[in-house]
Parts: sequence; structure tokens; C-alpha cells
Amino acid sequence: HGIAKPCLSFAHFGFDQDLLNAVIKAGYTEPSAIQRQAIPVALSGRDIIGIAKTGSGKTAAFVLPMLIHIMDQEELVKGDGPIGLVLAPTRELAVQIYQETRKFAKAYGLKVAAVYGGASKLEQFKDLRSGTVEILVATPGRLIDMIKMKATNLKRVSYLVLDEADRMFDLGFEPQVRSICDNIRPDRQTLLFSATFQKRIEFLARSVTDDPIRINVGTTGQANEDITQIVHVFDEEEMKWDWLIRRLAGFCVEGSVIIFVGRKDAVDLLSTNLQKSNFDCTALHGDLQQYEREKVLRDFKANKVKVLVSTDVAARGLDIKTVKNVINYDIARDIDSHTHRVGRTGRAGEKGTAYTLITQKEDRFAGELVRHLETSGQVVPPELLNLAM
Ligand code: ADP
Ligand code: MG
Repeated sequence: HGIAKPCLSFAHFGFDQDLLNAVIKAGYTEPSAIQRQAIPVALSGRDIIGIAKTGSGKTAAFVLPMLIHIMDQEELVKGDGPIGLVLAPTRELAVQIYQETRKFAKAYGLKVAAVYGGASKLEQFKDLRSGTVEILVATPGRLIDMIKMKATNLKRVSYLVLDEADRMFDLGFEPQVRSICDNIRPDRQTLLFSATFQKRIEFLARSVTDDPIRINVGTTGQANEDITQIVHVFDEEEMKWDWLIRRLAGFCVEGSVIIFVGRKDAVDLLSTNLQKSNFDCTALHGDLQQYEREKVLRDFKANKVKVLVSTDVAARGLDIKTVKNVINYDIARDIDSHTHRVGRTGRAGEKGTAYTLITQKEDRFAGELVRHLETSGQVVPPELLNLAM
């Protein structure tokens, strides 16, 4: 079969009025670049490896065709277990995809459920058992638990999405993802999405897809050009604090701020110090209980707290419109994480600024950062070039 052509408006996709209304209600006037390219291909039934910058609307690119895929199933009423399955690397991302999917699934009265670690297994078990779920959003580990508990099964799954696919493999979920894929019918449609895509996961991606169409919007690993990136090179670690304290109040006037820190204990320390300096701030990392993590994100999304200090838990996929400034207080562990962190601002065509604080010791990262800034059309400061040399 031929490759479908990209479309310019949502109506060109052949969506019916119910779905078009849901899209309009979500505030989408025209499809984004990845949506224009991926939706027709997904509707044609082909597998996809989709790579597009952060904030470019990848979620709707896989959710909208999924709904149509489900509505096209003849034996919709028969059997149990989801037809569409979305796997995500973190709990927070699973919750967000669940919320986004529900907005659109309402158009057809489809039931969406989410299962992820940290929250009550019993509640999730009951939710899955309580009725027919057509769409399930899950983190891999918890999905496997749910299958073992016989809360659900994968017999009906024919549309599988791996969101932030490379992160899933990075986090060591490869065996889980493989075992899930092995238990889904081989004639399924499989879609992989990410903003970054490392060569080494190419093999994995190929092994779970069948003759995929590769859709690449922009350069892989390139940051969104709506984000201005500013890098400061410091002689001493301690100078970063002085800079932060001088600038933070100004950032808070512009909008919400996410500060990325390397380690969990450093998150708590920085957030305590900021609170002592009278900043309205909250901390997020993997050692918090799940209900605490959810509350922190809820408050931050609702604009109740202006500043979020976080580890890379918040680096991927999270979509919080009020975030105008991202600060890499500590550098990311690699350039892909950096791309995802800065991508927490500049969502859906909005502007944003990302500051990266780097010290003289971190010359190894400096080289990669220079290349990243260059491919993302950003100014490379001379101090950084020096450090990289
Ligand atoms: P990505 O997964 O590529 O990082 P998301 O799917 O999280 O991006 O979308 C980023 C933001 O853009 C979300 O708030 C989403 O609701 C919004 N969005 C997505 N598609 C469109 C569109 N076509 N028009 C306007 N806003 C959109
Ligand atoms: Mg996403």
C-alpha cells in the first residue's frame, strides 16, 4: 500500500463531526507538523516510528487515529480487555496521557483507564474489572502485575503505542516491554514516539514493529526553536546559588519555573533553601510516595506553587502550559535528557527560555551541549566553546 499524504486541516483526515468537535473543544485549530504527517499514516494501518520535538503534539498524533481504529473494530462489543494500549515510562506521563485521551475518547463514549506503579493495586484492579475498558494507558511493570492478577488481558489489543520509547528502554523496561509485546497479537499496529531516538534502540524499535514508516520532523535531538537557550559557565559550584537567587523572583513574574537538579537529596536541599529564602516552591523526586508526587504536580499545574525543583522524573513528556522558564541547575546526565528537560517549556507554539548552569569541571558535557545548541539554532557563548575545547 502507498504512503498517505500529509493533510493540512483536521477535516482532511476524514474525521467525523463528533471527533472534529472534540478536537475544536480541545482548542486545536490546525494539526501540528507531526500530526499532519503521522495521522494519515496511522489511519492507513501502518506501523510508525515517530520522532518530533518536545511540545509538538505527539499525543494527539497517536490518540486520534487510535479512536478511529477502535470504532472500526467490528467485534467491539465482544470480549474484554483493551483494544488500544499505550505504554509510558513514568507514572506522571501515564496520568497525563490518560487525561488527554479521555478528552477525545468522550466523543465516542469509549472508556479509558490508567494503571501505574505507586498507586493502589486494588483500586486499579477494581477499575479495570468494573466494566469494559477500550483504552488502557500503563507503565510496563504495573501492567504486568495487573495481567498476573487477571484484572485484564491483552487478547483484544490491536493498536499499541510506546510513548517516550527510548526512555522506556533506558529505564530498563526492555524485558517488560518485550514480554508485553510478545503477548499481543502479531498483526497489531504498533507506534513508537519520542523526541529523541538513540541509534542503539533502533534494533529494539525494529523488533517490536513491522515494516514501520519512519516520520522525523526536524533533526533528531534538536530542541524546539521556540525555546531560547542560555548557558552560563561558572568557575565554582557555589556561584550557581547566587545566580539563582538573583534571577528567580524575575522568572516567577513571567510564569512557573522548573529547576532540574541531579540527585534526589539535592532536590530536597535546594527546595528547602529556596523556601528559607521565601520562595514559593515544591520538590518532586522518585522517593516521594505516589500520592505526594501527584499532589505536587497537581498544585504545580494548577499554578498554586510557582517553582518546582525536580530530578529527571519531570523531564519527560509533562505538559504544563504555565512554565515559562526551565533551569538546569545541574547539567543533565546526557544530551537527550537535556533536550527533554528544556522541552518542558515552549509547548504548542508558546515561547520559553531554558537556562543551563555549567561549571568548569563539566567540560565533557560542554562539547555535546555546543553541538546541541548549534543544531537547535541557538547562540553558543564563547565561554562554553572554550570549555568544550
Ligand atoms: P509532545 O508529546 O510532542 O511533547 P503533547 O502531545 O504533550 O506534545 O502536546 C503539547 C501541547 O500542545 C499540549 O498541551 C496539547 O494539548 C497541545 N496541542 C497538541 N496538538 C495541538 C494542536 N494541533 N493545536 C494546538 N495545540 C495542540
Ligand atoms: Mg509526549
